[in-house]
Amino acid sequence: MRKSRRIKGAEKRLVIISNRLPVSIEREEGQWRLRPSSGGLVSALAPVLRDRGGLWIGWPGTLEDVDLDQLLKASPQAGYGLKAVTLTPEERDKFYYGFSNEIIWPLFHALHTVCNFDPEYWTVYRAVNRKFADVVSDNVQSNDFLWVHDYHLMLLAQELKKAKIKAPVGFFLHIPFPPPDIFLKLPWRTQIIDALLDYDFVGFQTSNFRQNFVQCVRALEKQVTVSGKNPFTVMTVGQREVRLGNFPISIDFEQFASQAASEEVAEMAWSIRERLPDRELMIGVDRLDYTKGLPYKLDGFRLALERYEELRTRISLIQVVVPSREEIPPYHDLRAEVERLVGKINGEFTESGWVPIHYIFRHLDRDELLALYRTAGIALLTPLEDGMNLVAKEYCASSLDDEGVLILSEFTGTAEQMRKNALLVNPYDRDQMADTIYQAYKMPMAERRSRMRKLRRSVQEQDIFWWVDSFLKAAASSDLDAFPPRADEKLEEIVEYR
Ligand code: UDP
Repeated sequence: MRKSRRIKGAEKRLVIISNRLPVSIEREEGQWRLRPSSGGLVSALAPVLRDRGGLWIGWPGTLEDVDLDQLLKASPQAGYGLKAVTLTPEERDKFYYGFSNEIIWPLFHALHTVCNFDPEYWTVYRAVNRKFADVVSDNVQSNDFLWVHDYHLMLLAQELKKAKIKAPVGFFLHIPFPPPDIFLKLPWRTQIIDALLDYDFVGFQTSNFRQNFVQCVRALEKQVTVSGKNPFTVMTVGQREVRLGNFPISIDFEQFASQAASEEVAEMAWSIRERLPDRELMIGVDRLDYTKGLPYKLDGFRLALERYEELRTRISLIQVVVPSREEIPPYHDLRAEVERLVGKINGEFTESGWVPIHYIFRHLDRDELLALYRTAGIALLTPLEDGMNLVAKEYCASSLDDEGVLILSEFTGTAEQMRKNALLVNPYDRDQMADTIYQAYKMPMAERRSRMRKLRRSVQEQDIFWWVDSFLKAAASSDLDAFPPRADEKLEEIVEYR
């Protein structure tokens, strides 16, 4: 556990606001229970709030009529305060599935042809941002710093301003911010830019996304001045000033590395090795999402097997696909397409004792995932566009022997940090993908070690604590020390829960 110094008189309370609470509410044997949620943001922030207390405001993921306040208060499990924003079925459909995931998600990932620009979605998006603002207003204290997360809540600072809330508000966008030629297609582009300028601070994953935002502001607003150097920019727009920065989100490196080294994980890794001996294992881990480029990846792997006969029987891809957003139309056909391709490739190349692709369609727990990371000599992570890609960082943290090779899409936020020591690919370029898989397979051990050692060091140096600290330093003009660590006895309670 990291020790923090306390600065007298500078103590603040950290309030996180995101679409989803880091727990979901489920009924088990007639009883309502809290379950910790999974996903990039939760893996990132839960350890920080667990150490320091504070409050998290969000939707608990249920439409059921349940006394949320009572349930959240009675459950100390999360280790910090939880406050629910309730949504009606219509709000869930039009705010979450609709505006957030049928418009902003595809547009910001540069796939505007997938967008469904339904004006009704915009109306409900505004109403739900107002609803979040009401819950924040009811719970805010004078020493709070409000940290708002992600594309679901881009209007929140504006709504808080209308409600005369004075607390400083920072925003972090976990997904890409697109360049003007993409962003300007949004029918509500002016309103979104205008609302984002009401934040005191806006954080992006990469300098590229920050610069895209600046260009979009310049395209839509008058009297814009910009000063500062990477990673910070101060922007004035008329009378308003907003500070911008970029910070690549990360993982709890030490936690991943030590869990990967545990006996349980080592045993699981051995058993995978025993069942799939004498071959290179290549791992892919992606949510079932069109931005992850799964069909392109499978095509690239197929070409590698066709072009380099030597790879047949010598390499297998273990592709984990995690079910996701199954309610949204563009996701319906994707699973069928992925499974058709996996079947086609396996049908074409399988030989006695060897299958080219082992396909897993479910969510794995941390130990299972770490065992796969540890066993795989290559990771193949090739999204078409990705805000960061935590799996790449988790793979490096778990590559305990420094022998893993990371093949990474150049269109991930992670690539900005890892371009020197990962093998970067353009996921649309099948030829390059095939050649890179072969290059990774043939890479001499000394080169593997030298690259992976540097990758691991960079993830270790810029871990999740670095990310939170850097954001807060820049956004709240104070670091984690200003948010006091909690008593040890509370922590034990939480560790048991995990
Ligand atoms: N993950 C998991 N179980 C799985 C597959 C993935 O817990 O079976 C986690 C993984 O450890 C990572 C997150 O899901 O922390 C995926 O984050 P990433 O940034 O790579 O992609 P996202 O899904 O957020 O777009």
